[in-house]
Amino acid sequence: MKALVVDDSNTMRAVLRRILQMRGFETVEAKHGVEALHVLAQTGTADLALVDWNMPEMNGLQFVTEVRKNPTHAQMRIMMVTTETGLHEVQSAIDAGATDYLMKPFTTGQVDDKLALLGLDSHA
Ligand SMILES: [Mg+2]
Repeated sequence: MKALVVDDSNTMRAVLRRILQMRGFETVEAKHGVEALHVLAQTGTADLALVDWNMPEMNGLQFVTEVRKNPTHAQMRIMMVTTETGLHEVQSAIDAGATDYLMKPFTTGQVDDKLALLGLDSHA
């Protein structure tokens, strides 16, 4: 399975990359929404996208809105990665087509729980 990690924080991308690769995902990364759209265009769709909210160029909500216009990515699960203070914004992302959210700071176990909910755990 393939996961796209979209975050302007190098540290957060590294944390998510490590967790996902340990669970057998191939990962691709982008620093913001515009770059993420380019990565998807170049590498094809992904099973999962983990998407930060606050990013330069194109934020998480704008990315979700754009990606949901493209039927190529209709099956891609989108998980917003947000802080508690951003929780009120998550509903607008869900309305725009996001599948679920993960609240920062998160534990590896919480990521596993979300992957299982999305049917993306390694036991599937
Ligand atoms: Mg950010």
